[in-house]
Amino acid sequence: MKKIALYWQILIAFALAIIYGILFKEHIHLVAWMGDLFLKGLKMIIIPLILSSIISGVANIGDAQNLGRLGAKTFAYYITTSIIALLSGLFFVNLFKPGVGADLGFAEEVSGLASAKESFGDTLLNIVPENIFQAMVENQMLSIIFFAILIGFFITKTSQKHKTILTDFFNSCFEVIMKVTLFIIKFTPLGIFGIVAKQVAENENLGELFARLGLYMLVVLIALFVHAFIVLPILVKGIGKANPIKHFKAMRTPLITAFSTSSSNATLPLTMEAVENKSGVSNSITSFTLPLGATVNMDGTALYELVAAMFIAQAYGIELTFTEQLIGVLTGLLASIGAAGIPMAGLVMISVVLSAMGIPLEGIGLILAVDRILDMFRTAVNVWSDSCGAVIVAKSEGEELKV
Ligand code: ASP
Repeated sequence: MKKIALYWQILIAFALAIIYGILFKEHIHLVAWMGDLFLKGLKMIIIPLILSSIISGVANIGDAQNLGRLGAKTFAYYITTSIIALLSGLFFVNLFKPGVGADLGFAEEVSGLASAKESFGDTLLNIVPENIFQAMVENQMLSIIFFAILIGFFITKTSQKHKTILTDFFNSCFEVIMKVTLFIIKFTPLGIFGIVAKQVAENENLGELFARLGLYMLVVLIALFVHAFIVLPILVKGIGKANPIKHFKAMRTPLITAFSTSSSNATLPLTMEAVENKSGVSNSITSFTLPLGATVNMDGTALYELVAAMFIAQAYGIELTFTEQLIGVLTGLLASIGAAGIPMAGLVMISVVLSAMGIPLEGIGLILAVDRILDMFRTAVNVWSDSCGAVIVAKSEGEELKV
């Protein structure tokens, strides 16, 4: 019998999970463990994967000039696409004004908002870890990435003998970890079945939520859709001279995983596998751009935060000037960079945008109910943008890709 492609297995699992979640709500524990186990597997592999792939990738890039050029291109891409996403969010929220006349009566209580307000300066300072093991225990991705880049870079500065041994060693480590990753990826259909069934069983009142917050959700979704299916493909085609449709097909498994898990970090192993093996980007570029992208490049989150803040302002009847909206764009960018690639991280970071724009923090209560659903969509857009960035940077470096 011909093997069904992984992507189809996942889609079938997704559909069955929805049916299971609706029909067997009381028996959700029978399948939920598969989702938990799958997520554990992905999380288990993230730090070894980031370390081995960045160290070997950077050691293979070689000199500081190449690294600097790659870094500059990557950051230029991240910032440009995030700003475009923010502006398109701003455009649609001003066009549809979903918050005007919104029903304020259903706001939920929120607590502990102030704790999220780490300043941008602190985020930058914290990139240098005091203790690398603590950084690993606490999943501080930027610190781990920073450390790995340093090690990779200084391997190239050692004597020829050590350089060869160390580069070979980390290349071998990376190969093993990638094999483990591929092994975990085989279980994606079962994992997604568990995750989605549990979510469906827990979110029964979708209809009511949509009635209350439908227009707001719609604005977020339209803006995300335009960014993912118009803006980013134009960049892939125009600047990267690659085929966005082929690249999208290559990315189906990670995208549906991002959608189901709402976590760019947990999806990273699948993203790396797809961009490297299916789209054909070299390891030196994926290892540098994708882990960084999963942590700092969040177009979907940036867009979502600004639309949410504007929705809350509209609901409270607060008129925002042009300058205040511009502040929203800037803080939206910073907040998306600061947000971790984990579920609902963007929700917490909205408090940064709200306080910068002078909107009451309690307003978050208005959008709490639908955050988890929108998180699925924005995470998929975040991962999609990271992968398009890897393709564009690879093409600009003269690589021959499969897309
Ligand atoms: N869940 C998102 C991600 O992992 C972050 C967010 O909450 O917006 O990319």
